[in-house]
Amino acid sequence: MNRWSRNTYNWAYLFLCLRDGEHCIICRVRARSKTKLEIDHIDGDITNSDPDNLCLLCKKHNCEMRGKKPAEHKRIIQRYRLQNERESARLSYTSDTVHEGSR
Ligand SMILES: [Zn+2]
Repeated sequence: MNRWSRNTYNWAYLFLCLRDGEHCIICRVRARSKTKLEIDHIDGDITNSDPDNLCLLCKKHNCEMRGKKPAEHKRIIQRYRLQNERESARLSYTSDTVHEGSR
């Protein structure tokens, strides 16, 4: 799947679930037993494990992003990420119980 050990992968996965929520950043599909999310390297460089370079994608979108040029890939992810951040900011504003995305 990638060059990380299973342990590193699991930790990164958990980190991303807590930061972004356990869903594809593009279509927001949630992980289920059959829908496994994959860790995407936003700049296309799998050796760049900076948290800012990682996000969760469903299998379909991960494949789609692999076919893109790195610059385009990055632009798309950043656009969705911004959108998701606005969404969670709005949610935590309207509900006291939602703290997803707050820092
Ligand atoms: Zn997706």
